[in-house]
Amino acid sequence: MLKEENDCDGTGIVNQYYEKTGYLTRTVLIVDDEEFSRNILCHILKDSYDILTAKDGREALDIMTERGKEISLVLLDLMMPVMDGYDFLKAVTANPQLSSIPVIVTTARDREEDEIWSLENGAADFVSKPYHPKVVKRRVDRMIRLRETAAMLNAAEHDRLTGLFSREFFYMETERLLERRPETSFDMVVADVENFKVINERLGVKTGDEVLRHMAERYREVVGDRGICTRLHADVFAMLVEHGDGSWKQQLFWQWNDRVDGIPLQNMVIKYGIYENVSRTIPAFGMCDRAVLALNRIKNLYGRYVSVYNSSFSDDLFREQQILDSMEQALAEHQFQVYYQPKYDINRECISGAEALVRWVHPRFGFMTPNQFLALFERNGFITKLDYYVCEEVCRTLQRWRQEGRDLVPVSVNFSRADFAVTDLVERITELTDTYGIDRGLLHLEITESVYTDKPHQIIDTVKKLQEHGFRIELDDFGSGYSSLNMFSDLPMDILKLDMKFVQKNYSNSKNILGYIISLSEWMNLETIAEGVETREQVERLKSFGCDYAQGYYYARPMPEEDFERFLKEAQRKSCLLEKHAAGSTVPGGGECTDTVLIVDDNTMNREILRSMLEDIYCVRDVSNGEEACAYLREHPGEISVILLDMVMPVMDGFQFMKRRENDSELSRIPVIITSEPGKDSELVALRIGADRFMGKPYRTELVRLSVKSVLRKKN
Ligand code: C2E
Ligand code: CA
Ligand code: CA
Repeated sequence: MLKEENDCDGTGIVNQYYEKTGYLTRTVLIVDDEEFSRNILCHILKDSYDILTAKDGREALDIMTERGKEISLVLLDLMMPVMDGYDFLKAVTANPQLSSIPVIVTTARDREEDEIWSLENGAADFVSKPYHPKVVKRRVDRMIRLRETAAMLNAAEHDRLTGLFSREFFYMETERLLERRPETSFDMVVADVENFKVINERLGVKTGDEVLRHMAERYREVVGDRGICTRLHADVFAMLVEHGDGSWKQQLFWQWNDRVDGIPLQNMVIKYGIYENVSRTIPAFGMCDRAVLALNRIKNLYGRYVSVYNSSFSDDLFREQQILDSMEQALAEHQFQVYYQPKYDINRECISGAEALVRWVHPRFGFMTPNQFLALFERNGFITKLDYYVCEEVCRTLQRWRQEGRDLVPVSVNFSRADFAVTDLVERITELTDTYGIDRGLLHLEITESVYTDKPHQIIDTVKKLQEHGFRIELDDFGSGYSSLNMFSDLPMDILKLDMKFVQKNYSNSKNILGYIISLSEWMNLETIAEGVETREQVERLKSFGCDYAQGYYYARPMPEEDFERFLKEAQRKSCLLEKHAAGSTVPGGGECTDTVLIVDDNTMNREILRSMLEDIYCVRDVSNGEEACAYLREHPGEISVILLDMVMPVMDGFQFMKRRENDSELSRIPVIITSEPGKDSELVALRIGADRFMGKPYRTELVRLSVKSVLRKKN
């Protein structure tokens, strides 16, 4: 809106309005029938304020009725025609919309009775004529500031959205009320909507606000004069109410029913926590904390709506506090220990790695497992320090094992959501492995699915970077409930770690689910590990589905470093470490390998690349076209376990070879992986002509090895 000139020559109303210089300018209304007087006041104030003028009380009232909200102060002459200052002041004080606007009365020097009358009738102050510019300016400034402070205080007393007391004010009022009524027992009740976020997301914030206002209204109504209410924050309300008895209290624990104002919320659940007969020795926020503590016990528990605090909850709180107080020192004093739980290759029954799991040997509470402290650390961010510490301990240990000439197995460490808030995570972890001279492939990072719930893209990028740096990513707790399969294919990972529930519970339909997940994982060229394996039957079942690895009490519990070292030593003695990481266990081409791979490709470079990727695990043969392949296979019946076949070759290309294979019962027993340029349809074509698998260029060592392993497993 355009801003007009200040009206200082007494003609009409000045439209000041809105920001003059970026901040809001206050407006003063000058009411005087004498033009000369108006002009003087105008000149005194115009540099600091926008000015409106009126020639009598009537005109002034009209302006105020129309634009009352904009006016910060009125300067009022008493003697005027039409409506004088006395009547004007009476009208303003009687009008609740206007009565909070301060009025300063301008009086003649010798009219003391006017001053007294004005103050008694609602004027905020007076200035006397002739005007002393500085005095006028000061009084106006001071009065406006006073009024604004009062308005601010008032706003601070009330929650803008619901009109209930603000939290701070509620705390003050709670203490006052308890003081005023020492004989009465009171309860603190906290109400919290389960999954309110979903309401905001599905129906929009506006509807969310509407719901909160309805709730506030309902609580205000039910509580009435039996207590006071506030909105503590977001969707959490608190009420201090008479303990009393009788049915009104049941009304307090109401649930939303879908008829309320047409807002369709059939599934909205409100949970209540109560701290009964509050102790007057604890502060109001402490009372709320206790009610919240009670409420937290039934969060996400189906069918439980009301929970009453009991004093044992506070012991938990006390313990929590002690844990928080001692964590930094614990880190400095190495009270945290890294335990190792072996992971097994279930087909070979060999150790394939380990997971690092943290333990806390607390000087007071003794031995603690992560579920006793991790959630706390996740909330306060300390987890990031702890995870980094565990990572460093693992690197240090791997370095020592290497220096002592032991065989190494990869060790996985767990990462939390909070870790991804650290911007230089990738640099820190790579720096760690570099400092300790650890082959990055030896450090696996376990990242649980739920880490991706917030800001998935940012986290995906970070994890991708880690993967590109050579760390292997295990998707932890897969299937524990958070996963959305549509995002699944975007998640960077090398290994899928199945949640325990798939293995342990007699999961209805688990046979199908387990089989489905493992085949999905195979299809995506991922390895699969199952955790929580406790019995032989479980191992067999996993094996039958084609799961690669397992971890669980059946094999071994998490154990201290020294025990794990003994474990490794024993495994090494029995030659039971997964060979690719064991020292000196590579299989030289043509040596005692069990499986032989035949590479069929006219391009020498491609053959060399594939050979280098496979020959430390398999025997490798190569030929340069389909014709040669057939000849080799005829001359060495039973030798070749798998064929890697290029499509485009001279003499006999891949298509012709596959055709021949189709009609040859010996040949068709050998699985074929087609290696070719990836294209829109190459994979489809490959599978259509009977290949067992497709592998696009450029080749990645892990992928190539996995593909071969996977088709071999199917064959055996
Ligand atoms: P997780 O990553 O799912 O780890 C597996 C948990 O299952 C471990 O519990 C392990 O001791 C337990 N477990 C292993 N085998 C079996 C079995 O056969 N049966 C049963 N019932 N349980 C088995 P733990 O060590 O208490 O760790 C609990 C969780 O704490 C871990 O779950 C992991 O999410 C977290 N955690 C542990 N250490 C760390 C750490 O250093 N950093 C982070 N961020 N989280 C950690
Ligand atoms: Ca884990
Ligand atoms: Ca897990």
